[in-house]
Amino acid sequence: MREPERATEHHAECDDGSDSERLSLHLILPDRDEVSHNLIMQREVGAVVFDMDGLMLDTEPLYKVAWQAASAELGYPLDDPSYATLVGRPTEDCERELVRKFGLAFPLGQFQARWPELWYAEVAANGIRQKPGLLEFLAFLDAQGLPVAVATSSERQYAAFSLRHAGLDGRFQVIVTGDEVAAGKPSPDIYLEAARRLRVVPAACVALEDSEAGVLAAGRAGMRALLIPDGTRPSDLAAHSAFSVLASLTEARQVVADLLLNSRSAG
Ligand SMILES: [Mg+2]
Repeated sequence: MREPERATEHHAECDDGSDSERLSLHLILPDRDEVSHNLIMQREVGAVVFDMDGLMLDTEPLYKVAWQAASAELGYPLDDPSYATLVGRPTEDCERELVRKFGLAFPLGQFQARWPELWYAEVAANGIRQKPGLLEFLAFLDAQGLPVAVATSSERQYAAFSLRHAGLDGRFQVIVTGDEVAAGKPSPDIYLEAARRLRVVPAACVALEDSEAGVLAAGRAGMRALLIPDGTRPSDLAAHSAFSVLASLTEARQVVADLLLNSRSAG
């Protein structure tokens, strides 16, 4: 079980408040980080956007089993370090990466047909587990009257299947999937689209992510990203791009509660 090191600071770089705002504050007061942090704490929280795989759902092991088994069956074993570079990225990008790694002889069509079969078989056999603290977090957000969205790189059919098999049908106001935007994570498109459909400005959205690509996407969209690494130590880039690095969804619920308390007392 992972115990990622808890970050002791919040990173101002990810707040994505306007540059001019940061610049003028920097001119007035020397401690830019502290100032930006205070601004963030006073900013309203209007919605929470969840990544799905590896954040809400323990689905990464299912993909790993399916992808490694399918590629091995075809004679192209995919080792753990290579697989790790694919986590959190859209399926199409991952498939392109396999062709880059194995060469044009890689039977992509056969792979595309086979891995979903193995994935569905794995889900049918073992189900999909929620990450600890998820239901309590969703209930808390519900009680606060905050809308919740899903922003997942997975395609619509897998996202719908996964959410249903995890007992989360109907829990989200908005679901944006990888096949619905032009560019996947780490591009910001998917989070910008989630904010647009939620009718909440990105700066008032808190995003929850487990991967580097996801944290970068949320940060580039202008959201505050809480990073909850899925089993591995986060990269420096991921940790520095996150508003905060946390060990669990239970901790994330507390951070959101603090942000709400702060913004309401400031307002
Ligand atoms: Mg993820």
